[in-house]
Amino acid sequence: MVIDNDKNKWANKFIPISSPSITKKEIDFVKDAVDSGWVSSLGKYIKIFEDKFAEFCGTKYALATSSGTAALHLTVALLGIKEDDEVIIPDLTFIATANAVSYTGAKPICADIEAETWCLDPDSVRKKITKRTRAIIPVHLYGHPADMDGIMNLAEQYGLYVIEDASEAHGARYKNRMVGNIGDLGVFSFYGNKIITTGEGGMITTNNLEFYEKAAFLRDHAMSKDKRYWHPEIGFNYRMTNLQAALGVAQLERITELIDKKRQIFKWYEELLKGVSVIKLNPQKDWAENVYWMICLLLEEGISNRKESLIQKLKEKGIDSRPFFYPISLMPMYKSEGINRIAYSISRRGLNLPSGVDLKREEVDYIARAICDEIIP
Ligand SMILES: *Cc1c(COP(=O)(O)O)cnc(C)c1O
Repeated sequence: MVIDNDKNKWANKFIPISSPSITKKEIDFVKDAVDSGWVSSLGKYIKIFEDKFAEFCGTKYALATSSGTAALHLTVALLGIKEDDEVIIPDLTFIATANAVSYTGAKPICADIEAETWCLDPDSVRKKITKRTRAIIPVHLYGHPADMDGIMNLAEQYGLYVIEDASEAHGARYKNRMVGNIGDLGVFSFYGNKIITTGEGGMITTNNLEFYEKAAFLRDHAMSKDKRYWHPEIGFNYRMTNLQAALGVAQLERITELIDKKRQIFKWYEELLKGVSVIKLNPQKDWAENVYWMICLLLEEGISNRKESLIQKLKEKGIDSRPFFYPISLMPMYKSEGINRIAYSISRRGLNLPSGVDLKREEVDYIARAICDEIIP
């Protein structure tokens, strides 16, 4: 009887993996931007968004871009990285990290990740460094920071740049330091499912004035500062619009609330699933402040072959889920010799669960029950 009620209650229900949290504040700010007539990339909200974002990260500078991918491409390009150069990235990340390197003509080299953070493993990076290596791009995957000390030490030792891909980790901290404020440059994404959104959009953070100015120059068609329509090199149009920035300013004012909600949702899942020995949730090192961009479920090796059927069963119950990213080195254009054992294993066993900040406790109860029904023998 109870079960029947439950069935009725959840019939026709669909719980998405994520959805943006848009309130009256966002609508008011965007309306104000539209009313002002400044719809493109001039207008007050761009500067406000950049200044407030720099303040949030504690960096001297921040530069808004049209996407996280554009921000990544700009950072690699501004460092003068080009053909014959190599950039080391983690094998487990979203494809944009690798593609941004390729856009410059350089070659992304995939290193393995750590089992305990799912982020770039400094020991593996060391083994991949050659005389062509110019930079390292650690990714703070699913909201958990990478082991930055290990990476910064290597960078110093070998004279390499570090670009943090913090697209999934706005507000996460590594040993009390904000991500995006540790390497030479930081990159953020404001795509619709990220911690805060501008629809599409990105940001570069840095403490280096020269990098900031070069990024701004390349973002705006590489136009000379003193001579209008004079372009000494090939630049890009990677600007954010004032409308997007207005949305961003409103979201940024709510970022603490949004991160707190992510942490609350993680706690609910943790509490409900901690007794299940064959699964693990997101990693959490004691030096890390995770923002839990996505709730992650890792199946133990013994039941990893049941991932597809779990995704299917959840779907039948109206619960959206996603497999983890595939290793970059498995993609046709990035195929390489040898395998990154840990990245392959975690990719194969992991999935993302509904993680939107509007999730209700009863929905998490329902999801946890659905998982237990499927995987507890
Ligand atoms: C989302 C994401 C990006 C790209 O961001 P877009 O704004 O979608 O271009 C880059 N790297 C990682 C790790 C991401 O998750």
